[in-house]
Amino acid sequence: MQIVTMECEVCGERNYTTNKTKEMVQQRVKLNIKKFCPRCKKHTAHKEVK
Ligand SMILES: [Zn+2]
Repeated sequence: MQIVTMECEVCGERNYTTNKTKEMVQQRVKLNIKKFCPRCKKHTAHKEVK
């Protein structure tokens, strides 16, 4: 498992971490999740950062 940080695409705040399986890393799966951002005070798209 690899821990990835999820960053708000609107303000850049890093709000969440999640796990990727080895298979997801090998397949270069890009995570894009809608999450609540405390800074934007609403649900926004979150992308993974290195
Ligand atoms: Zn935000």
